[in-house]
Amino acid sequence: MTMKVLIETYGCQMNTADSELIMGILTAAGFEPAHALEEANVIILNTCAVREKAEARILGRLTNLVPLKRLRPDLLIGVVGCMAKHLGEKLVEKVPYVDFVAGPDKYRTLPEIIANKRKKAEIHTEFDRSELYTGCTPKRPSGVTAWVTIQRGCNYVCTYCIVPHVRGGERNVPAADILTEVKRLAEMGFSVVTLLGQTVNSYVDGDINFAKLLRMVANVEGIEQVRFTSPHPLGFSDELIEVIATEPHVAKFVHLPLQSASDSQLVAMRRKYTYEEYETIVHKLREKCPEIAISTDIIVGFCGESEEDYQKTRQAIIDNRFAFAFLFAYSERSLSIAARTMKDDIPSEVKQRRLAEIIDIQQHISKEIYESRIGSRVEVIVEGYSRRNSDQAVGNTRDFKTTIFDRGDCEPGDWVEVEVDSATSQTLVGRQIRIIKKGRAPAVENQIDVGISLGPTEN
Ligand code: SF4
Repeated sequence: MTMKVLIETYGCQMNTADSELIMGILTAAGFEPAHALEEANVIILNTCAVREKAEARILGRLTNLVPLKRLRPDLLIGVVGCMAKHLGEKLVEKVPYVDFVAGPDKYRTLPEIIANKRKKAEIHTEFDRSELYTGCTPKRPSGVTAWVTIQRGCNYVCTYCIVPHVRGGERNVPAADILTEVKRLAEMGFSVVTLLGQTVNSYVDGDINFAKLLRMVANVEGIEQVRFTSPHPLGFSDELIEVIATEPHVAKFVHLPLQSASDSQLVAMRRKYTYEEYETIVHKLREKCPEIAISTDIIVGFCGESEEDYQKTRQAIIDNRFAFAFLFAYSERSLSIAARTMKDDIPSEVKQRRLAEIIDIQQHISKEIYESRIGSRVEVIVEGYSRRNSDQAVGNTRDFKTTIFDRGDCEPGDWVEVEVDSATSQTLVGRQIRIIKKGRAPAVENQIDVGISLGPTEN
């Protein structure tokens, strides 16, 4: 009997890409994607550990699966990803009916882990610095957009962050392999690719740095837009700014995590840049590429954050006018340097007050930015149709603003001109004026069902 597998994805885009990789590995070994929980023989939760809330949510989900496991004792439940690496054995102690646990470097062995599953839970969480999943082909959903992982792990040790402790050190996929993969994707019909790495701009392969790689990918025939996430402000070079500004197929959008605008907090976080250096990058980006949209990540309430530190961050949000921001109150993660050596000394109510305040400010700014487009015409690459209303198409502008408009006769992959009639703080809504350029037929692969919940990146 063919075993059917369902993957639920939690966390960042890296996990979404990893779920596609896992599905690719398993289908190559003879598994089939399941389309619903009820038909799955194997349920895999691809997990996130960056925040306590994320782990709590996954533990809750595992509890919800208990009745299904009782009903069908042969059902296998696996936990993979960052939380699997973070908790390892402890996860099985907490949730004894979990059948296997595999860290981010162990996906290649999942077919054997599942096949050899014995009564006792299998736990495989060792690091493997050489694992780049060369030769493994991800199984992507049909469409026009594709994730391409170019880097695994992280060499930075931001004190609050758990990522290097669960994903290991930085490893870069050879540029030749990336280009081969992007060409293959373009031939299949994918026209938008997003290059993924924990600190994507630290990518290097011989004399090919990230700026050069980005230019190469942008020039692959059939690729209409290249996005990337997430760069680190350190090493965000003038060369990279030049490529973003001048390559027509590179999205005019950068997600540039700030975290804090207080230099003493940046030191405590070990971010390795000052706020002035961050601002300089933002100014250069806006000077060279006036249409650029910039988003960010912010943490408030990190160890020792004074009211003055916080006010600097609050002011930076106002000054920089980010298109959007992922905003968080600090939550301590075991294994991180901060958890081992620093005191989580900001009271919860202070963290929550600061967070609520900046959420309010950012929402107001995002709304203003999006509303400023009302009445203008934007170019949108069509990425699909609205789930709520199939008469509406959904796509993104060149500066990565999600846009909804009447579908007309456009298809995924087309570039269309849209007149914006209204906006929220996250979406433009408009009317299709014309199709600027027809796309090629979108890629069609076996649709895979993965429950996707996208979260912030951690740079
Ligand atoms: S925050 Fe980003 S750059 Fe810093 S350690 Fe974590 S993953 Fe690496």
